[in-house]
Amino acid sequence: MTLSFDPNTTPIPSGHHIGGRFVELPGEEIQVLRPSDQVAIAPIRDGGKEAVELAVTAARRALAESRWAKIAPRERAKVLMRFAALIEESAEYLGRLEALGSSRLVSMTVTGDAVRTAGVVRYFAEYCDKIEGIVTATEADTLSFVRQEPYGIVGAIVPWNFPMITAAWKFAPALAAGNAIVMKTSELTPHSLLALADLAAKAGVPGGLLNVVNGYGHTTGAEIVRHPAIGMVSFTGSTQTGAAIMSLAAQSGIKPVTLELGGKSPQLVFADAGDLDTVATRVANAFIGNAGQVCTAGSRLIVEDKIADQLVEKLVARTKAIKAGPTWDETTTFAPVINRKQADRIDGMVRTSISQGARVITGGGMLETRNEGNFFAPTILDNVADDNIGFTDEFFGPVLTVRSFSDIEEGIALSAHPTYGLSASVHTTDVKKALKAADSIEAGMVWVNQHGRSAEFSYTAGGFKGSGFGKDMGRAGIEAYLRQKAVWVNYL
Ligand code: NAD
Repeated sequence: MTLSFDPNTTPIPSGHHIGGRFVELPGEEIQVLRPSDQVAIAPIRDGGKEAVELAVTAARRALAESRWAKIAPRERAKVLMRFAALIEESAEYLGRLEALGSSRLVSMTVTGDAVRTAGVVRYFAEYCDKIEGIVTATEADTLSFVRQEPYGIVGAIVPWNFPMITAAWKFAPALAAGNAIVMKTSELTPHSLLALADLAAKAGVPGGLLNVVNGYGHTTGAEIVRHPAIGMVSFTGSTQTGAAIMSLAAQSGIKPVTLELGGKSPQLVFADAGDLDTVATRVANAFIGNAGQVCTAGSRLIVEDKIADQLVEKLVARTKAIKAGPTWDETTTFAPVINRKQADRIDGMVRTSISQGARVITGGGMLETRNEGNFFAPTILDNVADDNIGFTDEFFGPVLTVRSFSDIEEGIALSAHPTYGLSASVHTTDVKKALKAADSIEAGMVWVNQHGRSAEFSYTAGGFKGSGFGKDMGRAGIEAYLRQKAVWVNYL
């Protein structure tokens, strides 16, 4: 892998990666555009049934020939450690590749996403020999135990907003648990996962254990869910697609799924949150970062009325201090929206919110830039009633809606969402208020005096209610790829 990277000349991986090598297959060509300027880069093809079938055959063969699930767990760990080391050595290349074709900024992808991806692989490599069963109590002359077994071949489907990280959260534990995996990344951001699969092969992960097939969701994605040899499917994406996948999995042999879905996360700010400039920076980063294309984006500000005007004023100032530009430019601080369709969708939702009574405090449309990039202005809306789309629906863009409250009960009630329950943050210096709010808010992740940070690898990410079930990362993150078998032996 080269360490230098020129956005205009460095070759970009394409095709599918099956059986440890790049494979070209027929199928509808899918254009991939750089979100920063709409320039087309290496296209892919919709692999459909043929690609999934080929990947399953490669996975079956690799499991049999490498005895991946049967070798000493330490041997699996050694291979995965080599893979992690190679990812880290290639961080410059991977990070720059990620920043080119996705909406991730290069200032976040080289020392951030790529190095974290290596960390995820290393974290789960260390789990290989810590997968424990239980010996259960029973009568004399019998032995009863529960063992944790891999599924065999698992499937995974991931979105475009953090292509490498969301993929690593799935392939690393799946492989550590002894499975082979067939993955589909988003058709909008296919390249970095292909590069990772190639590094896996170069690091000695037996070809066929990590297969990447490209294509659309309703074709290639659905084939992964449907394939009878794929034992479970791990999905990250929108709630709507999650529901479709769950229903297809039910019809495909009652296949287990884990679903990491959307959210509409509140940032509950009390008047005693502390220095308002610090609070404003935190709140702004939580809805502007990655242009709001973060499942846990803090898209609803619930602020105590005493400080509401002052805080909003400071937030507006921060929305003006951004620098929109190419994702591969180190000085860019504000990311583009992934494509024009998504930008139009956000624009349409803002218009609907306004027609339902919302007032635009700042932003409200596309940013003027020198190129064709999809930059939607950081937008703040207030006057949003409970049923305003700005208060209820995930925009997946840099849009914040503001409501104010006068006492803690009202603040907690406004933070609740009728269907989503992914994450929330509480900002206060009063520990009692913080704990009361954390107790009351129904969400899979709650932060106090920050939004979106986490213990590096040992936390579990995932939601409640319409935000899904099953967890990525932590112990639960590997248990998702294991199933329990109870064995009872009579040795009399
Ligand atoms: P999406 O649901 O449109 O697509 C996600 C993936 O599913 C893509 O690879 C897509 O091709 C595939 N897909 C689409 N339809 C399919 C079908 N019928 N069968 C099988 N696969 C199908 O989501 P997106 O637009 O790529 O990503 C944005 C969404 O992801 C947001 O809602 C966001 O909140 C969510 N997300 C959640 C988390 C989390 O951890 N909870 C993390 C990141 C993103």
